[in-house]
Amino acid sequence: MKTLTVTQTPRNPASESLGQEFDLSRRVEQIDSRLDLEAEIRRLKKEKNAVLLAHYYQDSEIQDLADFVGDSLALSQQAAKTEANTIVFCGVHFMAETAKILNPEKPVLLPDLDAGCSLADRCPADLYEEWLKQYPGHTVINYINSSAAVKAVSDIIVTSSNAVDIVKQLPEETPIVFGPDRHLGRWVEKQTGKKMVLWPGFCIVHEQFNARRLAKLIAGHPDATIIAHPECEEAVLERADFIGSTLALLKYVQSHPELHKFIVATEVGILHQMQKSRPDAEFVCSPPNSGCDCAMCPYMRLNTLEKLYLTLRDGYPEIVLDPELQTKALRPVQRMLEMSKNLSPVQQKGD
Ligand code: SF4
Repeated sequence: MKTLTVTQTPRNPASESLGQEFDLSRRVEQIDSRLDLEAEIRRLKKEKNAVLLAHYYQDSEIQDLADFVGDSLALSQQAAKTEANTIVFCGVHFMAETAKILNPEKPVLLPDLDAGCSLADRCPADLYEEWLKQYPGHTVINYINSSAAVKAVSDIIVTSSNAVDIVKQLPEETPIVFGPDRHLGRWVEKQTGKKMVLWPGFCIVHEQFNARRLAKLIAGHPDATIIAHPECEEAVLERADFIGSTLALLKYVQSHPELHKFIVATEVGILHQMQKSRPDAEFVCSPPNSGCDCAMCPYMRLNTLEKLYLTLRDGYPEIVLDPELQTKALRPVQRMLEMSKNLSPVQQKGD
């Protein structure tokens, strides 16, 4: 098998218009500082019949304003069934793109188009297609953290909530290519016993967790339960008592009232919902290599209350996709939704 190393982050296609960035920063500066942004956002949502979908990795103030808070699977399920006129997506670009793929006729707005993702950015469609040529006859499974162009050349899309279950549903002998997260892929291999060809991508946030620093933290908190996201590297996962998607980690915390201290190896945004549902428990962030106390996704945090207000007020920035690409990308996303019908119900705000 030929190996492939992706060392450079290709330019984020969402960042191509510098003019857009300047326009956004100018509009933010012009917001009247006396405005009650939360109240304005609530009013505009109602006035425009817009639904606000927010990922767990958003700032807590955005999560608290959202109509639905969830992980990638729950948000896709919600996007697929919404009756609102407009979808405002507080997450990253590939998530809003997925909502657009599922709702070609509706405007899907993202407060900052530069909110990309290291996994999606390090898997450019042209390189990916070239790489796939080495594996004819393979079923191409892609993590939802990929661009619409990569989704369009996939057979099935998965999220960290349903990847194991979907791979298990395939016939034993099916040869599989899995992209773009090698850590998630390796974990799925372990859970299913199926060997897959893995694209060598990774998440810059989850790859920062380090087994040595985690071991030190565990020594200082011997009574803590360690929970980790499968995007973490193997040495970190080996230390975990429970491994699961963001939603699975939240549910684990909610369903184990006998446990009172957790070390959490994933993006810090999820702690808001964990703390809300378990005010009696203590949550300690697994330390990333960056020297910070917690791991924060820089892309997710590009969405702010100010940008969200502007997006609702002005009706842009909007996700625009080529209709042909949209149609091609829809098939594997629909397949995912069909194959995960009996899994993870949508996590609604306050659930
Ligand atoms: S946390 Fe990682 S996988 Fe999630 S959006 Fe950020 S860079 Fe992408």
